[in-house]
Amino acid sequence: MTRGNLYVVSAPSGGGKTSLTRALVPLLAEQGIRAVISVSYTTRAPRPGEQDGVHYHFVTEQRFVEMIEHGDFFEHAHVFGRRYGTGRAKTEELLAEGADVILDIDWQGGRQVRALAPDAQGIFILPPSLAELERRLRGRGQDSDEVIAGRMREAQDEISHFDEYGHLVVNEVFDRALAELAAIFSRVRQGDRTPRNAVPAGLTTELLAKKGPIG
Ligand code: GDP
Ligand code: ADP
Ligand code: 5GP
Repeated sequence: MTRGNLYVVSAPSGGGKTSLTRALVPLLAEQGIRAVISVSYTTRAPRPGEQDGVHYHFVTEQRFVEMIEHGDFFEHAHVFGRRYGTGRAKTEELLAEGADVILDIDWQGGRQVRALAPDAQGIFILPPSLAELERRLRGRGQDSDEVIAGRMREAQDEISHFDEYGHLVVNEVFDRALAELAAIFSRVRQGDRTPRNAVPAGLTTELLAKKGPIG
């Protein structure tokens, strides 16, 4: 059986990773491509509606550290003061079964994955502007003002790593971004791994101009 492809999808928080990848899986299934979103481990608290084992495996700091010591993680990182990690066994099992595995992870995790699996495909999702990113974070209605302010400060830092990814998708109109994502998976399945990460003409350069946290 052909091994599946490993994908790293990164974006600033609120960029649309979760909603896009969740919509992508059934769309790919219609095209005969089996893709699975990896369920990460985290030490952050569940948001309203988040279920253990579905959105994340929610674990204590102590358990997380034990898992690191046992070598249970494919990659792990500190994000927003919490720990996040991808389990090793499940990822490997799914790839061996021929499924494409999608890791919704931050740029630090992306680097670790590229080092371990040079064949992994990196996809970076950019919001159309910082103002729109903040609107979406607020619109999601799941984080406090303080958390949103922190995520906006981190956003610029995350975005500054977009050029480490072979594929770039601007999430302005949701369905357009979704179709672009699906096209990447289908090209890779056909053996075309050509990077397409030029910043689209017309995209505001505001996102890419400044490095480091915004103020
Ligand atoms: P979201 O960004 O709004 O979806 O908020 P989350 O709390 O779900 O994720 C926070 C950050 O942690 C995001 O940048 C994710 O990409 C990152 N993240 C989630 N899971 C993992 C993981 O398993 N490993 C790593 N390295 N980062 C992760
Ligand atoms: P992430 O997982 O990257 O933090 P989400 O998928 O949770 O991002 O998206 C953040 C919010 O923005 C959600 O409420 C989502 O419904 C909304 N959203 C995502 N993409 C778009 C889009 N293209 N247009 C408008 N709202 C969007
Ligand atoms: P225009 O504003 O001219 O329609 O688009 C300019 C560029 O921005 C396009 O080349 C396109 O790649 C990108 N773009 C604009 N809107 C979207 C969108 O909703 N989704 C994605 N993925 N790209 C977009």
